[in-house]
Amino acid sequence: MKTKITLLGLFLLIGFNSIAQERSCVMQAHMQEKLQNPEFREKYKLRQEKFHKEMVELRNSRNKRQRETVTIPVAVHFPAGNESNRTCLEVLAQSQIDILNNDFKATNSDISNWTTASSQYPAINTGVIDVVFIIATKNHPADTDTDLVEGGKAVTIGYNFGNGGDSDVKWAGYMNFVIKDISALGYSSLGGDPSIGDTVVMDIGAFGSGNGCTGYVPQTPYHLGRTVTHELGHHYNLDHTWGNGGCASDDDVADTPNIDSSSGGCPSAGSVIMCGNKSLTMNYMDYVNDACMYMFTAGQAQRAIAYINTIKDQYKTDVFTTLTSDDLTLENAFVVYPNPTNNELFIELKGINNRDVVKIELFDVLGRSVKNIESNVNVKRRIDMHNLKEGLYLLRVKSGKNATTKKIVVRH
Ligand SMILES: [Zn+2]
Repeated sequence: MKTKITLLGLFLLIGFNSIAQERSCVMQAHMQEKLQNPEFREKYKLRQEKFHKEMVELRNSRNKRQRETVTIPVAVHFPAGNESNRTCLEVLAQSQIDILNNDFKATNSDISNWTTASSQYPAINTGVIDVVFIIATKNHPADTDTDLVEGGKAVTIGYNFGNGGDSDVKWAGYMNFVIKDISALGYSSLGGDPSIGDTVVMDIGAFGSGNGCTGYVPQTPYHLGRTVTHELGHHYNLDHTWGNGGCASDDDVADTPNIDSSSGGCPSAGSVIMCGNKSLTMNYMDYVNDACMYMFTAGQAQRAIAYINTIKDQYKTDVFTTLTSDDLTLENAFVVYPNPTNNELFIELKGINNRDVVKIELFDVLGRSVKNIESNVNVKRRIDMHNLKEGLYLLRVKSGKNATTKKIVVRH
């Protein structure tokens, strides 16, 4: 009997340890609570109906691809933060947004792990969600954080967001992230609602990467910003890969293997078998360590895109600028077309002085230079684009000490 108790104790200990290693995402509990509210339930139902129609349309469309890059204005809130920490908190916020931009576009460096891992999952491809997250810098809402300035980042510090709740109508039209001390790593609605100033709520130890700031230090193994990628996946209607749990429950995504529960830690590819399938443990919608999750599937990407398409009109468009130039004259001095482009891009220089040497440089989203052209000819230039990967690029035109940048989308 004594031995049995010891063994049971050991089993419980092991069981407990394996749970303790896993993340604590409380999306489901959050949704159960929210759906008690009839008004929330009704709006949720309408959004989901709209989403299902969009899914059908996307599936039937000829190329099954997203129509255009969606730019999503972001606001980051530190309700318990200290204004004296602003510089550090803005850097922390930007570190998280950079991670999201890479993870959603599948330009994260560790996606290279898939090259080997994919042999374990022959029917699965990685997905690209063509969105760009930008921390808003213009037309900040009034009566929130009085320290926000035109041209400065929409990062509130010490502002009592939503009176402690999960949404704040003053921040409607933004993708809001609220970072506070919670008992889980994070949560979001399953299918968020920008019209009410909805949020992803993150714990103080699971936001951003790097050394962090006083009171907001990313904690290993959730120190690489992936918890936010996971919660934002929920926000765009992606469920956990195990759905509600059990082999009979699914996540409504065709290409994620059917599994019954989460994995923690850092399992090797194909090593976890559930419901007779190899669990896709490296998926952002599982519970593994930040360093061990690195992909959405093509099916998840399609689902997220369909959801984003149904809510994108609610996002504000006048709260950010994609221009990184401080020279609007040069911005108007050239035209670029077609954009999106396929095989070639034309640049027409209009108002630039003939004697000036114009430098035209194309960068990928990681800031790597992929084309570099010098021109002192005040005419049309053609850039060959056919060997560039699909995605977003930045075209930088420099004349004298003036420079301006335009976003270019390549789609083959
Ligand atoms: Zn979750």
